[in-house]
Amino acid sequence: MYCPVCFQNTLKVKSNGVIKLAFNGKSKNSSLFTYNLQKETQEQLLAKLREKVVDFFSFYSEFNNKSPIKNFEAYSADFLCTNNCKIDMINTKVSMIGMIYTIPEVKSILEEEGKKFGILIETTFR
Ligand SMILES: [Zn+2]
Repeated sequence: MYCPVCFQNTLKVKSNGVIKLAFNGKSKNSSLFTYNLQKETQEQLLAKLREKVVDFFSFYSEFNNKSPIKNFEAYSADFLCTNNCKIDMINTKVSMIGMIYTIPEVKSILEEEGKKFGILIETTFR
């Protein structure tokens, strides 16, 4: 990952922190969870992601006009540059998709849960 300050490939995810989710730019107050890469298995991290997707979808499925989910984000501010740059983490969002989650993992959770709640998933990941 490239550091936004020194532009070197030195940005590393911290071993623990918080991941926030946004669906079409919207999220609930509860659309976030902590992670600990040293203590949690990939299955546990995926279960947490799924739980928060379900939490949002069960809320969103009550809406009359449900537009398809075209934009899904799972991002964190818990990064550090090994060059010790001071990064403005309030305005920096780094996607965890492709970092701790793979695109197929995220896609299958969104599509499986979307089907259950009648929510169309049209998210494309780069
Ligand atoms: Zn840096």
